[in-house]
Amino acid sequence: MSTFNDIDLECAQCGEEFIGTVWVAIHAGQDPKLKDLLRGGELNLVSCPECGLAAFQERFLIYQDPAAELVAYVYPESQRRQEPELRKLMMSGFREAQAAFPEKDRLSYDPMLFFGLAELIELLRKEDSFAEQSQIAQVLCRQNQVDTLVLLPSQARRLHTVRVIPRLGKGKAPGRQDILKGIDRLLELDPVLDHYVKLKETILADPAWAL
Ligand SMILES: [Zn+2]
Repeated sequence: MSTFNDIDLECAQCGEEFIGTVWVAIHAGQDPKLKDLLRGGELNLVSCPECGLAAFQERFLIYQDPAAELVAYVYPESQRRQEPELRKLMMSGFREAQAAFPEKDRLSYDPMLFFGLAELIELLRKEDSFAEQSQIAQVLCRQNQVDTLVLLPSQARRLHTVRVIPRLGKGKAPGRQDILKGIDRLLELDPVLDHYVKLKETILADPAWAL
């Protein structure tokens, strides 16, 4: 569920005191409009009713998107120096909350820590770009009989890459060489898929690379 707080604000330009609405929890699945506002850089941008000055209200916010397997704890940029303590606090709070659920309902991925909404927005935009190329790859591979493996969102995020992985070979879990050959096939079909070029470079640079 998404929630907001009404908080007392004072305009930095004209001194007007007013009550502003600040979002403190966002559920992207239930409220896609809030996700759009966030992505557009307009979330928690509050305007003074007197002079119109718009200012960001930085508050702690929890962002969750179950379909993307993402839980983000976003602290104000000014708290970055407290990162080690906040990370500990986040993990213990998260584990405690998860322990209250039956095992089958617990999340299989960890929350992520951010400082400032800009960091979270950057991740969302990067994942949009990954998703776009994944879709193109999916279509090209289907048309050209190249098998693909679709990673879980949290797995692709951990590997900093696309979710659709082209592969050769028949084994259930493709090895490094099967994936490299699959990417080569895909890049023959469309050489400008730069996230796949980058993934290939990452795999080549790491002989121990595995899914
Ligand atoms: Zn004002």
